[in-house]
Amino acid sequence: MSHIIHRNLRRAPRLAVRAAGLTVTDSEGRHYLDASGGAAVSSLGHAHPEVLAAMHAQIERNTYAHTAFFTCEAAEELASRLAGDAPGDLDHVYLVSGGSEAMETALKLARQYWLERGQPQRTTFIARRQSYHGNTLGALAVGGNEWRRAPFAPLLIDVPRVSPCYEYRDRADDETGDGYTARLLHELEQIILATGPENVIGFVAETVVGATAGAVPPTPGYFRAVRKLCDQYGLLLILDEVMCGMGRCGTLYAFEQEGMLPDLVVLGKGLGAGYQPIGAVLARTPIVAALREGSGAFQHGHTYMGHPVAAAAALAVQKVIQRDNLLGAVTTRGAALRRMLRTAFSNHPQVGDIRGRGLLIGLELVADRATKKPFDPALALHAAIKEAAMARGLMVYPMGGTIDGRHGDHILLAPPFIASEAE
Ligand code: PLP
Repeated sequence: MSHIIHRNLRRAPRLAVRAAGLTVTDSEGRHYLDASGGAAVSSLGHAHPEVLAAMHAQIERNTYAHTAFFTCEAAEELASRLAGDAPGDLDHVYLVSGGSEAMETALKLARQYWLERGQPQRTTFIARRQSYHGNTLGALAVGGNEWRRAPFAPLLIDVPRVSPCYEYRDRADDETGDGYTARLLHELEQIILATGPENVIGFVAETVVGATAGAVPPTPGYFRAVRKLCDQYGLLLILDEVMCGMGRCGTLYAFEQEGMLPDLVVLGKGLGAGYQPIGAVLARTPIVAALREGSGAFQHGHTYMGHPVAAAAALAVQKVIQRDNLLGAVTTRGAALRRMLRTAFSNHPQVGDIRGRGLLIGLELVADRATKKPFDPALALHAAIKEAAMARGLMVYPMGGTIDGRHGDHILLAPPFIASEAE
């Protein structure tokens, strides 16, 4: 019997004993092709020699120094690099241990910013219905996955919500793309006005929606218009790029393709690429300046923040991505993979949509293509597909989203950037 509280309490998962490149091997000697990078994490595959070497070197020099006493070279270099590669004045980095911690950090940083600016009445975040921002209480509160939220709803802060940007399901037949985007923006403006702009801390969204909808990119111009609205009403714009950032969509930050600048960017997953647990928040200069000139400190912190070995691993990942021009590979491989999927599945009666950006690709499954009717959620089709794929030696990431009471099954593909055409 396992003493671990596994995700499924009735059945322990397979035991992974080795992993290299795109292949994970279990204790029975079976091999699995990692076509999802776990959950869009392993951007360099497994056991990349240069990342391992950087981690070994860091372990021998300095494995830990508490940030109340010291900073470390690896964390400083990583932060300089992340800030240097980010557009505009996104020049400040807060390093934590994962995506949820990073989201909590962003929420608190945004709240403290308004306190420092003498606006303590700003207590409300506005978010979208179709979103996942993490499983800790603050992140869960701004997230819109009803299934994950339901048991803990009484513990969560109230978050007004707007519709997601989900063209496949929500654009009306007689509506243009621009018309649909304008409708979404109108809804957001109405919520801001109903809440009172002076009470709102900021708007939270995933740049490309990952785990609740299966790789849904925004419509063209959506985030530029959101940025304008946030500026008009004085809201901070917080973009969650835990899944879609760090090169997964073909640019280091997914928002770079949207022609706008958020105030805070939340990172995780691909930052450490599975080699170490690490997340980060990128913040624009005025936010950090307000804290520096005000109370002089961000009232936050974690024991393992800025961990030297995690920072060294993330830094090595960044260096490999840049040296090997892997962002270019993400774009070309992603386009090729979507083409192959369309060839294979475009006429499949149960594949409603094939979409994504870069190497973040989603397949939405439907019971009926014409009506886009989803499968009965009781079937847990996504889970069955994951099992069937595993039985054939393939890892795909399954999701059964609950959105406004509608259910949809999705399969997410997020292969490592180093995947060959054959793989
Ligand atoms: N935000 C997004 C968009 C995510 O996809 C996830 C994880 O799936 C998180 C936040 C939470 O990150 P973590 O699981 O590292 O806490």
